[in-house]
Amino acid sequence: MKFIDTHIHLQDFKTRCATDIISAGKKAGVEKFVCASVIREDWAKISALYEEFPENIVPAFGLHPWYVNKTGLGWEVELEKILAEYPKALVGETGLDRLHFPDKEPQNEIFLKQIELAKKYKRPLLIHAVKCQEWLENYWAILPEKFVFHSYNGKSELLKKIVSRNGYVSFSASILKNRDKEKILKAVPPERILLETDGPYQSFYPGQESFPDFIPELAEEIARIRGENMELFADRVYQNSLEFVQC
Ligand SMILES: [Zn+2]
Repeated sequence: MKFIDTHIHLQDFKTRCATDIISAGKKAGVEKFVCASVIREDWAKISALYEEFPENIVPAFGLHPWYVNKTGLGWEVELEKILAEYPKALVGETGLDRLHFPDKEPQNEIFLKQIELAKKYKRPLLIHAVKCQEWLENYWAILPEKFVFHSYNGKSELLKKIVSRNGYVSFSASILKNRDKEKILKAVPPERILLETDGPYQSFYPGQESFPDFIPELAEEIARIRGENMELFADRVYQNSLEFVQC
């Protein structure tokens, strides 16, 4: 079985280096890793990782809503330049988060700009969304053709909206701790599901970093909850991931 970790922050691990994480992941069948930016300083780190592991890394350049006040001047120009330079790069992670950062205006501004760039360069968009269901009403009509709500843990009503707009829904280990996991997992059509670690964050094991070699276990558990054959499920998710990352 083959897998793609559709959201990881390889630049943020403390306990293991990227080379070890990638080779352990590959042994477990994880052959590609979408490496998501959070802050502007990540862009150079992720492009360096991509240069080192071009077969395995799918770079994603963007700015996370938690750090909207630390973007620095001219970030839009620099982001556009790096997206043009790396034609396989995705945009993100970006999005909206009222729990961590209640101030709407700066978040709107950077999210809108990243949506615009994703559309201009025809790139998939990695969306972080927390406590923002109503706020998202302003965005459904303008999202790019391909987008994913990453590490999904929200309500099933929002899920229906994402799916109706042809969006993807990506699950990390955090879904396994959700009381409504069965309802949520069963509500997504098979062709819309992606899997991720969000490593080093959101480990299944408290206090530990989250590694890509957990992806097969995550797939197995989700297939079991959905009542699907694991191999068929994994194959479907792998095809979805290839279609999503366009590689
Ligand atoms: Zn993330």
